[in-house]
Amino acid sequence: MELTLWTYEGPPHVGAMRIATSMEGVHYVLHAPQGDTYADLLFTMIERRDRRPPVTYTTFQARDLGGDTAEMVKTSVRDAYERFKPQVMLVGESCTAELIQDQPGSLAKGMSLPIPIVSLELPAYSKKENWGASETLYHLVRTLLLPFVLPPNTQRPKRDPHVRPKANIIGPTALGFRCRDDIREVVKLLAEIGVDVNVIAPMGATPDDLMRIPDADFNICLYPEIALTTCTWLTRSFAQPVIKTVPIGVGATRDFIAEIGRVMDIDVSEALQRSQSDTLGNWDASRISSPANPQASRLPWYSRSVDSTYLTGKRVFIFGDATHALAAARIATEELGFTLVGIGTYSREFAREVREVAKKHGLEAVISDDYLAVEAKVTEAAPELVLGTQMERHIAKRLGIPCAVISAPIHVQDVPARYSPQMGWEGANVIFDSWVHPLMMGLEEHLIGMFREDFEFAEGHMSHLHAAPSQEIRRDLPHEMGVSEQAIASAGGSNQAVLTPIQVAQDLSGITWSADGEAELKKIPFFVRGKIKRNTEKFASDRGITSITVETLYEAKAAIGK
Ligand code: SF4
Repeated sequence: MELTLWTYEGPPHVGAMRIATSMEGVHYVLHAPQGDTYADLLFTMIERRDRRPPVTYTTFQARDLGGDTAEMVKTSVRDAYERFKPQVMLVGESCTAELIQDQPGSLAKGMSLPIPIVSLELPAYSKKENWGASETLYHLVRTLLLPFVLPPNTQRPKRDPHVRPKANIIGPTALGFRCRDDIREVVKLLAEIGVDVNVIAPMGATPDDLMRIPDADFNICLYPEIALTTCTWLTRSFAQPVIKTVPIGVGATRDFIAEIGRVMDIDVSEALQRSQSDTLGNWDASRISSPANPQASRLPWYSRSVDSTYLTGKRVFIFGDATHALAAARIATEELGFTLVGIGTYSREFAREVREVAKKHGLEAVISDDYLAVEAKVTEAAPELVLGTQMERHIAKRLGIPCAVISAPIHVQDVPARYSPQMGWEGANVIFDSWVHPLMMGLEEHLIGMFREDFEFAEGHMSHLHAAPSQEIRRDLPHEMGVSEQAIASAGGSNQAVLTPIQVAQDLSGITWSADGEAELKKIPFFVRGKIKRNTEKFASDRGITSITVETLYEAKAAIGK
């Protein structure tokens, strides 16, 4: 048993639903108890699809358990086939159905339907949603293409250099983070270097499209969590090379183009050259009339422009699926000049890659799907910006830290109506804006550091986000100082009344702050104060100091700075 409040991923059958829902002509019969239809809402509400997912649930109830639940599977399969006439059917079970062991996949296979049946074995008690999606895609592709697999060690005939190379884009799914717009961006990148798209799968593909996968010269593994198993099998079975660089961020997009150039033996130097242009060369009237430059990103120039100087060294904590966390770490450190103070993923399958990046930054990766463990690490690292999932948005809100969402799981606001890719040049533009937006603007940060007594622009206030100052102070100061919600409430909700020196000096760790120490601490800008407070307390407790004075604060600062 594991006490779970929030979960980063759903059960694996939700992953299978994501594959079925992404495609046309595929139907999924799911052996599941009454109530499991809640998963429909993920698609109709969060992703705002205009139709129900192509899923038929057996919806057995308690009273059915005494009868023949296997017969319910057969009836559902028959009815679904008659009603929806799919080209391929997926058959599987949810967590509860797994316990009653009706073997729905085998039952359906024994019914002699005139279409391929893919039997899904998704262990709901050991695996999760992304794994379920990856397995489903793999078994679907494998079932359809198995009869055409090339004999072992077959070499692909050399590509005719006069014919444009063709790529499959594998991995975008329903409920994936910004997949809808990423595809458009990647197709644009490919067009720039003269590569045609053969099949995009599973999003928007039919079973007939999957049958055409072997026609392409290579595969692009766009979302490794979903696509790597399938791409690896395609390499083995059809000798198709696979592009593994995920083009999120300017550097990664350049590497992506370069990798395709290398693997396909095509000249991509012009595209790489063009993408280096910092100011995009259009500071004239055309800047106003032309839409976003499709051949380069604004991120490099924006992050080099003088307004971004204050971003240098900002402490950032990153958590998400492995693909987005790794991409974010590279952008944050190489393209925006942030300092990485924490990184982690809930994608256990890709823990190794995340650990390697963490090590490069002298950190230990957080590999966990326990959000409380993540919250503890965020608190400990005391970052100035959190880049994470919907869960980290909650964590950051509680801790009063600015946050941007970079990865699923997501809420409805991260399936926006406007064009918002993460990949390619435009994706980097979107990323620059959405990561910098939650931070305090440079001038305001400077002024609040200098003039603390302003009645409007008080500490923690971010005028560009319309945050009310008193709320912000309550969120930031009392908690950071160890004053409880109750204390705030009993003081009538006003932090002015709450922040008496005595109360502030009462630290939960048992170490107290003298009035002069606490006054000095308050002079430190609020977004780094938490970190300095914790460092000083650790310094004091390591040396048996019980009351922190202004001298202790500076001794700690000097010792840590060494
Ligand atoms: S079968 Fe699994 S997903 Fe469905 S209600 Fe039970 S625990 Fe939840």
